[in-house]
Amino acid sequence: MARLHVLPPDDRAERLWALGRWGGLLGFAALLLALVVEPRPALASLWNIAVPLLPASFFVAPAFWRGVCPLSTLNAFGNRLGPARLMTPGQSAAIGALGLVLFHVIVPARHLGLNTDGPLLAGALGAIALLALGLGAAFASRSAFCNALCPVLPVERLYGQAPLLAVSRGRCGTCTVCTPVGCLDLADDKAMRQLIGPARGLGRWTVTPFGLFAASLPGFIIGYGLTPDVGGHAWPRVYAATLGGAAASYAIVALAVRLLRPRPMRAVTACAALSGVLYYWMTAPIVVRNLALPPAIAPGIRGAALVGIGLWAVRALRRAD
Ligand code: SF4
Repeated sequence: MARLHVLPPDDRAERLWALGRWGGLLGFAALLLALVVEPRPALASLWNIAVPLLPASFFVAPAFWRGVCPLSTLNAFGNRLGPARLMTPGQSAAIGALGLVLFHVIVPARHLGLNTDGPLLAGALGAIALLALGLGAAFASRSAFCNALCPVLPVERLYGQAPLLAVSRGRCGTCTVCTPVGCLDLADDKAMRQLIGPARGLGRWTVTPFGLFAASLPGFIIGYGLTPDVGGHAWPRVYAATLGGAAASYAIVALAVRLLRPRPMRAVTACAALSGVLYYWMTAPIVVRNLALPPAIAPGIRGAALVGIGLWAVRALRRAD
């Protein structure tokens, strides 16, 4: 099945991207303000509408979000504030590993206050925004934040490995190859393969950082979904559920890989599809309850996720080597 091509790289598309970037930035500023002034509706729309749409957009075309994400805009803006230094491979690996750690720290922290405390979330988002800006001033293009430290990046890469739509990138009109390996904007459908690298051929993909992430994500999602919002005092319970789920998931996938010896990229694709379906399966009833929607909508979301991600998986598995 060929990918549909949208947004041709012409002036019209560039104007649309610019509009999207400014819209994203203004929306982000409005969100920070609303989280402090009117936290309840701001939290409800962020966690129950905006955030649940993101994984679906990564399956369809990660370029959409990467083209308008306000943190990415700030990261790129930071380039104007300092000298553009290329990262060394060591710095890139270290900051990338830190991004994986941040994902496993920040997502569970939603249950510890980020889901329910508007000013706390505004402070956290503001701090991450400053980090994106600062890393843009320290390192070339978007290499240090968007392609390394961003805690959303591992999910973008996993779900964005076989986009359904071919969308021209919305930034980096001229690529300077600031990130030689794993940039979704440079080669979305090759990024995951590049990151797993030679270990892919040797059957050792589960011991690479991104292989480890892919194998542990299904259990992490189950652990998160089964845990309620609790106070900060309950952090051992929250991290035990999420990290315990991740460890169990990794053990099961590693054992299955050892016994069944699937082709590496097929196994990674299966982990991505399972994670996506689990996410929507567990999120649908929460969204319906929080937004006071008719209960029949939850099975509708689950069914749409099953069908949509199923189609994505069939197509991705055919291409996986
Ligand atoms: S498209 Fe090129 S310049 Fe832009 S972030 Fe990717 S590697 Fe860097």
